[in-house]
Amino acid sequence: MAHHSIFIIGSGPAGYTAALYTARANLSPYMAAGEQPGGQLTTTSEVENFPGFPHGIMGPDLMENFRAQAERFGLKLNYSKVTKVDFSQRPFQIWEEDGMSEEGVMHTADAVIISTGASAQYLNIPGEKEYLGRGVSACATCDGFFFKGKDVVVVGGGDSAMEEANFLTRFASKVYLVHRRDQFRASKVMQDRVLANPKIEILRSFTPVTVLGDGKKVTGVTIKSTVSGETKDLAVSGYFSAIGHKPNTEIFKGQLDLNDVGYIKVKSPSTYTNIEGVFAAGDVADPTYRQAITAAGMGCTAAIDAERWLEAQEKH
Ligand code: NAP
Repeated sequence: MAHHSIFIIGSGPAGYTAALYTARANLSPYMAAGEQPGGQLTTTSEVENFPGFPHGIMGPDLMENFRAQAERFGLKLNYSKVTKVDFSQRPFQIWEEDGMSEEGVMHTADAVIISTGASAQYLNIPGEKEYLGRGVSACATCDGFFFKGKDVVVVGGGDSAMEEANFLTRFASKVYLVHRRDQFRASKVMQDRVLANPKIEILRSFTPVTVLGDGKKVTGVTIKSTVSGETKDLAVSGYFSAIGHKPNTEIFKGQLDLNDVGYIKVKSPSTYTNIEGVFAAGDVADPTYRQAITAAGMGCTAAIDAERWLEAQEKH
């Protein structure tokens, strides 16, 4: 068993920024990187809206910079996953996967910063799960290359769907963008890029109902009109879900206050959760903004909140 002043769960922009600040405050942070080290930005291509990079930067490179900067100041990073937490007593108890036992190895910590982010959502229609990784994906950057010269479908009407559809036209011969309403919620600049792209065909007021396949790979998608109920089949090799994300809060259920869709509730503008000494930052606690820069900002806030809270404990 190891004891830490600060245990950080998750390694996206929020986690690494919290690590950088707590490391520089001499709090020797320890981090479990989680299932997807670096978080969601490792599955995007060019990041054009992170200040400080006027010509853009690749998502994985940006996260590599975050990691290197935090480690330079002493972050202790483990590429592991947290399986269970017990916040009912202090020091807090956190179990980290060790590959040997189901529960893993227990750590204790005076303060915890949760930055577990969010994961891609799927429609849960027939064929989706069956063909995951065999034509079904939620990450164009990861899998777009496999669809060179093929036709694909992207589902959704937000910025992610626009970004994925545009990116996929680098490889695919045609991209169908299927959205359940006639209005997109994406920002105007992202919509304009899609509208101007001749390889994208927009199918408004339609939703996929079945992913079709030949037993080995995707061969098509059946879509249904949300207005008339009419169905039609699109012959495609790829199906990309871009309908938003779900916060990664499963292990905190019953211990932390979550909102109705599972985001950790924080006492805004701070990062205090309902348990003193447990802080949350980034997408896991932010259903509204969900940007890398806001996550990084919240990570910094969490580090300062934790540092001041620990200092106050020492004085008592
Ligand atoms: P989002 O904005 O929540 O959009 C999700 C889209 O999926 C919506 O159009 C929604 O339709 C649709 N959808 C949700 N559930 C569905 C269902 N069951 N069936 C069919 N369609 C469904 O999510 P996002 O696009 O992932 O973006 C999340 C955040 O990240 C946003 O704040 C966005 O601005 C940001 N982002 C920014 C960039 C960028 O600036 N480069 C890139 C990506 C994401 P409705 O519209 O009908 O609800």
